[in-house]
Amino acid sequence: MSGIAVENTRTFRALTENVGKYHVEKKTVLIPEMHRTAARLFAATFRSFAVGAKVLETYKGVDLGKQYTSGKECYPCQITLGDILHFVEEERMRLGSMFNPKNYIYFLPESDGPCRFGMYNKYQRIVLNSFRGLEGLKIVSPTTKDGYSLSGIMEQDKVLDFMKVGYLSMVAADILDRLTWRIRPYEKEKGTTDDFIDRAIRIMEGAFETFGREKKIKRIIGTLVELVKEGKTLLDPNIPPKPRIGIVGEIFLRMHARANQDLIRLLEKQGAEVVNASLAEWVNYVSYEGLRNAKKGFISDLIQLKGGPMKFHLKQLLNFGADHLYKGFRQKQAYRSVRPYINLAYDHKVSHLEHILTEDDIFSFDVSTEACLSISSILEYVRIGYDGVVNVYPFTCMPSMTTSAIIKPMMNRLRLPYLDAPYDGSFQPGREAALRTFMYQAEQHFHRNNGGVGLHI
Ligand code: SF4
Repeated sequence: MSGIAVENTRTFRALTENVGKYHVEKKTVLIPEMHRTAARLFAATFRSFAVGAKVLETYKGVDLGKQYTSGKECYPCQITLGDILHFVEEERMRLGSMFNPKNYIYFLPESDGPCRFGMYNKYQRIVLNSFRGLEGLKIVSPTTKDGYSLSGIMEQDKVLDFMKVGYLSMVAADILDRLTWRIRPYEKEKGTTDDFIDRAIRIMEGAFETFGREKKIKRIIGTLVELVKEGKTLLDPNIPPKPRIGIVGEIFLRMHARANQDLIRLLEKQGAEVVNASLAEWVNYVSYEGLRNAKKGFISDLIQLKGGPMKFHLKQLLNFGADHLYKGFRQKQAYRSVRPYINLAYDHKVSHLEHILTEDDIFSFDVSTEACLSISSILEYVRIGYDGVVNVYPFTCMPSMTTSAIIKPMMNRLRLPYLDAPYDGSFQPGREAALRTFMYQAEQHFHRNNGGVGLHI
């Protein structure tokens, strides 16, 4: 910790001091890399709106993250804390006395609800405050309470456009992911997909930076379509279809390749074609849940004839409703534009996932968190004929363990291979054997169900 500086003398500070919504103009926004592509496209969107933005190098500071946590925190909290501390250390070394923490804003969203994602920003605030000078490094923390509204972080007339293009950056990242998983197991020449995707990300960064501010959505989607067409040429049509594996779980772990020890690539090495749940699924869920709660609140106010709260819920109903409609429209537009060229996996609608749960009556959206998304997504994978499911999560993650407890007996009954994959940064000696066994079962399922002919190529 030599570069970070001297520990602060202890003074009382509220956990929410310097955590919230702050103007980011004239600062550099520091974005944690949960998802490699999305983080870069989102940073490019910020730059397009004339805000400096940088993706934090990830996992280099994981030891720092562990040093400044007790071990009881969730693994993503340790990783992101390590990333910000590592950045500060490096930046201080690079700039020396010119380093000023007030020039940066750390972008760390939060979630309300029963699990610990709402505490990452507060805990990390305490750690940053414990170093002299770092109290001035503010944390911008969009929250699920208002559907991750970014109102208050830049001039009001830019916010809506920024949020729209920012959402598209996530959908574009999802599509590039789906393209990777669709072509890499069938590539003509080993390694070409990874090289191509690296280049594709740079091209999309350029598109968001150039066209984002002017909201030239068609130009951005057009660039994506050209990349998808090019990606398809890497496919070898003579390679027979492989067993399809669906991934669900905690969003950070399933997106962060270092944290999940490159699970998708490992599964592909064992002969799988993999589809991970998307990034947009979570943000769509946040607006869907806001809309759902506003509806419930409004109906209850109406029954009790409570005028004031009724107005509040009506306003929420309109805000969340408009947001949800917009996201649905934009996501559909992007997928519809690329799917004529290659059959990428569609992203399911959140309302469809709720419908699955209601039909099967095994869980409810009333219990928020990712468990309702993971359980329903697994059932959807089963319905559309996947050959196995992996539930990826940080060790001790509450929603993922709920998922596991509910879904495991069902998978046994359905004779569908299912694997829990918890991670905490250590290397489990039995992990590879477990994956091999899982893939052996998935292969058997694949042959049992379609004679090995496959339906998806
Ligand atoms: S989802 Fe899991 S890992 Fe994430 S904050 Fe909640 S309990 Fe922790």
